[in-house]
Amino acid sequence: MFVRVLPDQAAGRLLDYRVPEALLASVGVGSIVKVPVRTRLLTATVIEMLEQSDVRGLRDLVSLVGDKPMIQPALLDLAKWMADYYCCPLEVSLRSMLPVAVRDGLVSKKTRQAVKMARDVSEEEIAALAARAPRQADALRAVQASETPLLVSAAAEAAGVAEAVFRSLEKRGLVVIEPMAIARDPYAERFLASEGVVLNAEQTLAMKSVVSAMDEKRKPILLFGVTGSGKTEIYLRAIQHALDIGKTALVLVPEIALTPQTVERFKSRFSEIQETIAVLHSHLSEGERHDEWHKIRNGFARVVIGARSSIFAPVENLGIIIVDEEHETSYKQDEAPRYHARDMAVLRAHREGAAVVLGSATPSLESWHNATTGKYELVRLDQRVDDKKMPIVRVLDLRQQARSGGGEGGILSKPLREALEGRLERGEQSLLFLNRRGFATSMVCEACGYVSMCPDCSVALTYHRAAEKLICHICGHSERAPKKCPKCDDPRIRNSGVGTQKIEESLQGIFPKARIARMDADSMTRKDSYRVTLGAFKEGKIDILVGTQMIAKGLHFPNVTLVGIVNADLGLHLPDFRAGERTFQLLTQVAGRAGRGEMEGEVLVQTFTPFSPSIQFARHHDYEGFMEQEMDFRRQLGYPPYGRMVMITVRGIMRERAEFCAQTLARKLKGTGSGNVIVGEAVPAPLEKAKTFYRYQVSLRGSSSLSMSRLVRTVLDTLPMPEDVFVAVDVDPLHLL
Ligand code: ADP
Ligand code: ZN
Repeated sequence: MFVRVLPDQAAGRLLDYRVPEALLASVGVGSIVKVPVRTRLLTATVIEMLEQSDVRGLRDLVSLVGDKPMIQPALLDLAKWMADYYCCPLEVSLRSMLPVAVRDGLVSKKTRQAVKMARDVSEEEIAALAARAPRQADALRAVQASETPLLVSAAAEAAGVAEAVFRSLEKRGLVVIEPMAIARDPYAERFLASEGVVLNAEQTLAMKSVVSAMDEKRKPILLFGVTGSGKTEIYLRAIQHALDIGKTALVLVPEIALTPQTVERFKSRFSEIQETIAVLHSHLSEGERHDEWHKIRNGFARVVIGARSSIFAPVENLGIIIVDEEHETSYKQDEAPRYHARDMAVLRAHREGAAVVLGSATPSLESWHNATTGKYELVRLDQRVDDKKMPIVRVLDLRQQARSGGGEGGILSKPLREALEGRLERGEQSLLFLNRRGFATSMVCEACGYVSMCPDCSVALTYHRAAEKLICHICGHSERAPKKCPKCDDPRIRNSGVGTQKIEESLQGIFPKARIARMDADSMTRKDSYRVTLGAFKEGKIDILVGTQMIAKGLHFPNVTLVGIVNADLGLHLPDFRAGERTFQLLTQVAGRAGRGEMEGEVLVQTFTPFSPSIQFARHHDYEGFMEQEMDFRRQLGYPPYGRMVMITVRGIMRERAEFCAQTLARKLKGTGSGNVIVGEAVPAPLEKAKTFYRYQVSLRGSSSLSMSRLVRTVLDTLPMPEDVFVAVDVDPLHLL
């Protein structure tokens, strides 16, 4: 027996190998194997099993990762489709299907073992043990002290001993070590009773659609429900239905929303089958990820929750795929393969006969288009549950604020300060949101206009007050913040920059007694700080929470009655045709955090452009109004969803070479004379320089992404690039920077 394999690093060449006798039973299509290539041992994927091979002198494949194929046939097909559609090499596509630890087969499967007492052990017995083996006695005490099984790793830490000590205890018959019988997360909070919720009329209808999609294999469903309309409740019941009919469920959530709060909400609902829920997110260690993955591959997990790459989780017998917050741009991978997990979800569900539900309060234009043209079924939840009102949104014109001299609050306008004060007096909570993208946190000299720029990227540096540093958010370059303007020596350069840190600082100045906390990538560096801060906020130990995108998504705090948006304009001026859509979505999501409890919510939006459509439509909770005018704009320009796009970025250390290659590429693409594709000129990218690379772009527009992708591949295959020039192809791009 022979195999045809695709090594990870052999530039797309398929190679044949002989299968040694010992591995015959376990090798199959989709197996990950190690094969000798010249003097090296490479990881490769088995693409085909061959009865015979014409190639002479074939070598044996060396070893197999795992004891059965890692990539099932359906997923292998998906990988092939992805390589074709997203214009990337098949080996790159295949590599993205498996967590690194699984693909390398490096981690043992036994890292997630739990330990519990085998029997009652008396104090005398432990004392006797302590005399001979004090470490074992310590370990045993740690196990005894816990009512539930403990992770071996956690128990070892608690007792201050090596994990092997527990093996010794096991040999003595004092403890039992078994896989996966893991104790509940001690911080877990049950905030959702499993029973008791009666669906309202809208939810009942929605549920009906979802159930029949599962039972009768219908179109994808777009679940368009305002914030707080009970979408998650629909997801939970949909999963329950899948389980009831003996199937499995896959739930995708944006990484940023994959908080303990979200996970717990799912876990607590399915508490009887908790150990059959697998969670895949970026905070897992490689070992944990490896274990979760195998739990799925072995058919043990019946519900999988995870971020983008979980769309490739090896679940079988899928009943439903749910994509929460389907409009989130983090579903698009920003390196090859540049796939969109939502689109892959629709495809995978279709191929595996599963239902798919895409949920959002602010669906993307693409999905809305699909729903209005009948490709998807539109299911709506127009009301908040219990008829709670949508929060009142007030727009505050920062230009007026500036004209009247700003006042002591700086960027925090008087009405916003008063609103905050009112909440403090009544013991209610507030969220203050600042979208940090854009240039607001840069250092700009008020006197001469000098801006501190990154030497390697064409962006302004971001000022980080606590560390007194200027940091580039593209490449990580960092330098000391200047005390005065490097150009004109004016110290007023220090006044600029409204980041979350500065807001936190001014708030503390205005409300010295208030308990204020901040949540952003800088303040959340420790693994559990997110949970700790959210926990404190939930318990009412924080009055005002200041944060970035991190606090915009999916949080549910009934006592929050005020949401302040410090500057709604950031992001609106990015050179990207989706800027308006993003701003609208973000404002709506943030506003949705207010008034989720008994009390009504209020949202204050500060802006310099109070009449921009994104802000006005968001203010009136008018998603459809916004869609209508945005669709018009896209239609007129032939932008997605009316046309498709491919963006090619050519980058190089030498500006001229990168430019020349981009120009040649554009010329060749035009020369292929495919009439219904418009090829743009080679132009400098909006982000002209990043990480010392000069960047040029060539865009393609047409009616079919697939045919454009194939066109690009054909041209690139015949156009050798210099070694120091790199080409990235983005099909259906979401970011044009
Ligand atoms: P969304 O996901 O649309 O923002 P959620 O599913 O989080 O909304 O629902 C908001 C709150 O309302 C949650 O606390 C949820 O438990 C509760 N809820 C959902 N459906 C109902 C219902 N039919 N009756 C009462 N409460 C409900
Ligand atoms: Zn930089």
